[in-house]
Amino acid sequence: MFDYLVVGAGFAGSVLAERLASQLDKRVLIVDRRPHIGGNMYDHHDDAGILVHKYGPHIFHTNSRDVFDYLSQFTAWRSYEHRVLASVDGQLVPIPINLDTVNRLYGLRLSGPELVEFFAARAEVRTPARTSEDVVVGKVGRELYEKFFRGYTRKQWGLDPSELDASVTARVPTRTNRDDRYFTDTYQAMPRHGYTRLFERLLAHPNISVMLNTDFHAIDGVIPYRTLIYSGPIDAFFDYRYGKLPYRSLEFRFETLDRPVAQPVGTVNYPNEHPYTRITEFKYLTGQEHAKTSIVSEIPRAEGDPYYPVPRPENATLYRRYKALADQTAAVHFVGRLATYQYYNMDQVVAQALKTFRDIAARETVAIVPRSNATEADLARSGTPPSVDDTTAAGARIRSTVRCRTVAGDTRPSGEGDE
Ligand SMILES: Cc1cc2nc3c(=O)[nH]c(=O)nc-3n(C[C@H](O)[C@H](O)[C@H](O)COP(=O)(O)OP(=O)(O)OC[C@H]3O[C@@H](n4cnc5c(N)ncnc54)[C@H](O)[C@@H]3O)c2cc1C
Repeated sequence: MFDYLVVGAGFAGSVLAERLASQLDKRVLIVDRRPHIGGNMYDHHDDAGILVHKYGPHIFHTNSRDVFDYLSQFTAWRSYEHRVLASVDGQLVPIPINLDTVNRLYGLRLSGPELVEFFAARAEVRTPARTSEDVVVGKVGRELYEKFFRGYTRKQWGLDPSELDASVTARVPTRTNRDDRYFTDTYQAMPRHGYTRLFERLLAHPNISVMLNTDFHAIDGVIPYRTLIYSGPIDAFFDYRYGKLPYRSLEFRFETLDRPVAQPVGTVNYPNEHPYTRITEFKYLTGQEHAKTSIVSEIPRAEGDPYYPVPRPENATLYRRYKALADQTAAVHFVGRLATYQYYNMDQVVAQALKTFRDIAARETVAIVPRSNATEADLARSGTPPSVDDTTAAGARIRSTVRCRTVAGDTRPSGEGDE
């Protein structure tokens, strides 16, 4: 009998598995339908021996000391500040838009205060800013909006910015100084030996068993457990009862070039030309030295793995209906980007998982009363469902399967495959 079944070996599932095993001495089974741990953060060496991120470039940044300290138990870090250039009007200029972006694009020599005036003279009044177009045009005016944002957003979302929530571009800052870092967080660093190694260490606790190539729906009702942590898509959990929650997907095209450097910074954005939105060169992110270099371009797709929840009001309404079902479902914790239908950065998911753990730990403490004295209310508070019989033939069979496949220290697949 497992105390917890954790669905999904990304940050949401793996952090909870680690905390439950190491802090509450729980027996945890973590399953993932992919052939590897690490969720979307999974990295591996390609045929040329270059470390690449299978599900697109993942750059770690956070303002949370708690999150950074927690992860530091499982990895050393390599300091890295990401920089991005955008290909606009035949030039590569910094994005987020800053003083150098405008000066180079228009052949000007503006100072910071003059750039404030430049933006103010071009910004259109768009209050309240309801759409993504409102946000950008209201900040920098129509021309810069069209050069940097309109085409990129149409490619990325398959929708015009005027059809998308303000939240999509509200995240994109503009600067009136020369700061060309993509992120300004306090902690900006990459796991020194890669994300997969970090996840191997997260899941190395002897109380944790790992099953890969395993869909939750195939084992539900077969493997005995007390409580479920679910980090898969929330609509799938409820058999799409109210319909599918829409996602935007991506196709990743990897290429290895026979030269040491491909481009001047980690990522180059292409707002206006090409079907892809951006190209990332991994060696900037990882610091690896190699005579060749590997890059990935990202082509947005309507179909495929679920990557970005589509931020439209009707989708938020649909999610709320699933959330109401989730709130009524006892002994299941929904965590992570897919189970909460939110675009979350890695650090936000780690923070959410740590918070969920604290809630569980508080409830477990309340629930530690002798069984004979436990009232119905105590049990309800503990969130513990009736125990599942562990002595069935199916239970015994699965336990032995788990032992065979539990190789938390050696989970890199020899073959690759998408979920
Ligand atoms: C292209 C791209 C780039 C990104 N770049 C960054 C970045 O630079 N910095 C940053 O902070 N964040 C970035 N993110 C966000 C980051 O990927 C998420 O924050 C992170 O993946 C969230 O972790 P998670 O555990 O919630 O989900 P995931 O990592 O997706 O893990 C969920 C896991 O659940 C498994 N699963 C789902 N359903 C089932 C099932 N039924 N049975 C078994 N297993 C199941 C999946 O296979 C998956 O492995 C990026 C996202 C994308 C799409």
